[in-house]
Amino acid sequence: MTGPAGLFVRDVWLVPMDGPPGSPLGHVRRGALRVRGERIAALGDLAPAPGETVLDGQGGCLLPGFVQGHVHATQTLFRGLADDLPLLPWLQQRIWPLEHAHDAASTRASAALTFAELLAGGTTTVQTMESVRFAEQVCEQALAAGLVAIVGNCLMDLGGDEVPPGLPEAARPALARTEELWRTYHGREDRLFTAVAPRFLLSCSEDLARDAASFARQAGLRVHTHAGEHPAEVAAVRARFRRDYVEVLHEQGLLGPRSSLAHCVHTSPRERELLAATDTAVLHCPSANLKLGSGIAPVQAYRQAGLRVALGADGAPCNNRLSLLTELRQAALLQDLAAGPGVWPAAAALWTATRGGALALGLDHLVGSLQPGKRADLVLFDLEAPQLGGPLAPPQIAGRIVHAATESDLRAVVCGGRVVAERGEYLGADRAERTAAIASALPPLLQRAGLGR
Ligand SMILES: [Zn+2]
Repeated sequence: MTGPAGLFVRDVWLVPMDGPPGSPLGHVRRGALRVRGERIAALGDLAPAPGETVLDGQGGCLLPGFVQGHVHATQTLFRGLADDLPLLPWLQQRIWPLEHAHDAASTRASAALTFAELLAGGTTTVQTMESVRFAEQVCEQALAAGLVAIVGNCLMDLGGDEVPPGLPEAARPALARTEELWRTYHGREDRLFTAVAPRFLLSCSEDLARDAASFARQAGLRVHTHAGEHPAEVAAVRARFRRDYVEVLHEQGLLGPRSSLAHCVHTSPRERELLAATDTAVLHCPSANLKLGSGIAPVQAYRQAGLRVALGADGAPCNNRLSLLTELRQAALLQDLAAGPGVWPAAAALWTATRGGALALGLDHLVGSLQPGKRADLVLFDLEAPQLGGPLAPPQIAGRIVHAATESDLRAVVCGGRVVAERGEYLGADRAERTAAIASALPPLLQRAGLGR
């Protein structure tokens, strides 16, 4: 438990991510960090004050909590239920029937599991796209878990043979849900925000997309959608709209500095120009892109164009982890292959997982670096763990974390000034209760989805 005076992390390598571009790790030095309430009060050469709870950082390094730009909390219960399929059959045969079968209790269980897993792995900020219904359950679980979240109910009004009847919802009631979510949850506790989340081009009518863009502008909300994920999807978009994916999104008014697009694996030079001209952010999900056979996103081209990039695990059934450390290594390895070793150095990748992610999600005022006034969302790595090889100074720290660290090397995860996980174990809620909720929600969900045994 944290004492009344707050937390004090002592004798640690501070990796603050507070530098200018070109110095991604920022002003790295040994020192201490003081927390007051949910915020960072000071860092540097400090001594603990009476009443503070001291977290010993000796042999470790302290970074800002990780930021994930693209996750589907509603899908976490479907992990392992949709393997070995490419994107469109994955959606049609498994994900849409399973999402349609969700009720409030099963969505709640899925969200609780999601946030436990994210926090255990050091992710303290996440943007999620939920199903058509029950996004309020995800908001409630995000509030209970204590992390920073941007949650959107997905908008899809087009059906067809491949979509269970009853899952799509007409534009007006769907946007009424988005508005209700905004009125109820946006800005709650200064850490829960709502977004406008059209699912993807193939599931949204032109009217819905334009009304969604207009509502986002009017309410000042972020737009969160998918784009250019799989070649078959990109071809279907071209057949329907006679234009490329990002061009259509642009015409619908869905690009801009408050917009972020998951994947962007397949984009033309013209689409990249549009992304850069509108300052739209890209959410890179390397494991999901590999597992669904989608391809390798041209992250280096996006970085060169000055685009903001965040990492994300995407949904549990297309990954099957929600681990930022996994995405970090996958992302770095794939760019080593696609662009050449050293083009995206480990320190820059680590920056993307923290400060870069915060910038991509418009949350840089709140999270992403160790700076006084920002939230006390912290990860403390144990550099003495065998695979991290000893308490070396930077720049070796970045390469060791990106390529060698696992969740068990996280000595502590701090969220809003509270220690919420140790060594990959979530401390924040009763595990037996969470497991019981899943055990009672999952079998009936599978029956309703026609996948029960
Ligand atoms: Zn997704």
